Amino acid sequence: KISIKGLQKAFGDNTVLKGIDAEIANGEVVCVIGPSGSGKSTFLRCLNKLEDITAGHVVVDGIDLTGKSVDLDKVRQNIGMVFQHFNLFPHMTALENVMLAPVETKKMSKAQAKEVALKLLEQVGLSDRANYKPASLSGGQKQRVAIARALAMSPSIMLFDEATSALDPEMVGEVLQVLRDLAKGGMTMVVVTHEMGFAREVSDRVIFMAEGVIVEEGTPDQLFGNPQNPRTQDFLNKVL
Ligand code: ATP
Ligand code: MG
Repeated sequence: KISIKGLQKAFGDNTVLKGIDAEIANGEVVCVIGPSGSGKSTFLRCLNKLEDITAGHVVVDGIDLTGKSVDLDKVRQNIGMVFQHFNLFPHMTALENVMLAPVETKKMSKAQAKEVALKLLEQVGLSDRANYKPASLSGGQKQRVAIARALAMSPSIMLFDEATSALDPEMVGEVLQVLRDLAKGGMTMVVVTHEMGFAREVSDRVIFMAEGVIVEEGTPDQLFGNPQNPRTQDFLNKVL
């Protein structure tokens, strides 16, 4: 569960997030949509404190990220994040990439981490690619390895930032299918996406952001079918 209260984020004198309030319940899938530059990535990065928070509070599973003595490693182990660019370690195989964090953090023995990694690679449909290095994988396969890697720490929350934006169109589907499966499995997910069809189909709730505020939120049917705010209507007219 994530509680966000009065979240502000400024870069110098540029205030990018201007007071965001939101609650994300356990098992909920929330998609965040909005124009380029509206602060979606910054918002997501504040949820695991990849950005310092200028004002307000972000409380993740009871831990206030703005607290002074917060154990960021522990918080981040609980929140997996997947980016547009997969950032896999190029000199390691898929399997080694997925095993790395659990072993490095001493969460698991090597043998245990390998077992978990193989299971996760199977879950994302890549059992037969475990020993391939990223250079020998397609974009969609790399992104699925990146998702398996994020899942290896058994996070209770997963954040996705445009996870399919860098992919060739024919590879978008296989990655969205992994997200769909995760959502069905009850994972708490915050998904920044340009894939409106996916957002409509999979989310429990959609948040429309513009210029650093939440302009409108609702169920997919409400937000896509009957948007109330003129800015939401305008945005959807452009992208749908
Ligand atoms: P897109 O859809 O293009 O990914 P976005 O909604 O994710 O856009 P952000 O990346 O959150 O938007 O950026 C919001 C604003 O914050 C932009 O004006 C951007 O220039 C600014 N910004 C983001 N990161 C930084 C940074 N590290 N330093 C300074 N300004 C930043
Ligand atoms: Mg972004």
